[in-house]
Amino acid sequence: MLETLSARLKEARRVTVLTGAGVSAASGVPTFRGAGGLWRSFRAEDLATPEAFARDPALVWEWYEWRRATIASCQPNAAHDVLAQWTRDSKTCTVITQNVDDLHIRAGTQRLVRLHGSIWELSCWNRCGTLPWRDERVPLPAQPATCPGCGGLARPGVVWFGESLSPADLNAASTACTCDVFIAAGTSAIVYPAAGLLQQAKMRGAFTAEINVDATPASSLVDMAVKDAAEVVFPQLAEALPRLW
Ligand code: NAD
Ligand code: ZN
Repeated sequence: MLETLSARLKEARRVTVLTGAGVSAASGVPTFRGAGGLWRSFRAEDLATPEAFARDPALVWEWYEWRRATIASCQPNAAHDVLAQWTRDSKTCTVITQNVDDLHIRAGTQRLVRLHGSIWELSCWNRCGTLPWRDERVPLPAQPATCPGCGGLARPGVVWFGESLSPADLNAASTACTCDVFIAAGTSAIVYPAAGLLQQAKMRGAFTAEINVDATPASSLVDMAVKDAAEVVFPQLAEALPRLW
């Protein structure tokens, strides 16, 4: 079965890979919906919103501090490594991620679109005009974190449920949907934009594939659904492809 996908990749001039939380699962980063996805008795959907932050910033920051501490001790896995290698080998390979852990960056990925921002970046909750900044300290010195510009509350630099994605990132992702092969890996692909990007790529004639340990709503949409772990499948594909494009 993987032969078909390898053959498509061999012929492809442009390849785009969309990744979700499942790609970082083997690194030890908990997904929201899987086992270990719950923090205390809260669901991610009840914490990762502007309303939750407005109500109780200290609680939301406590959850982010816990996630930052978890992610800080995680390393990129074989899936991140293969994708990084592909983007280094080929200028026409793009990775679009919904992950906020920056493990793709740590693996050395080029041409990366981070649709949901980064857990290592912060911005001013009051929008005082201070540009977003990066701070990888764990824990952060102030709890909850503050803005260096106005001294008010800082917020995590991630896109929360109900917030819009940056138009520049959406544009870059949409451009990357014009490709020969589009792979969605480790994403449940229910929510926009994951589902939308897959459809766009398909409409523009891409061969579409999914790599996921479980069936998802995308499984019936794609040309090929590979039901296996990303950290297993990507190294197999890389082995079958001696040289990229
Ligand atoms: P999701 O909706 O992307 O679902 C995770 C998917 O990964 C599931 O379909 C699951 O079957 C699959 N999966 C699990 N292990 C896998 C593996 N080893 N190989 C391949 N597939 C695997 O993610 P979510 O957890 O429901 O999160 C929703 C949103 O929050 C997304 O934007 C997500 O990226 C983000 N989030 C990011 C991180 C991170 O930065 N690592 C962690 C949690 C959530
Ligand atoms: Zn400020």
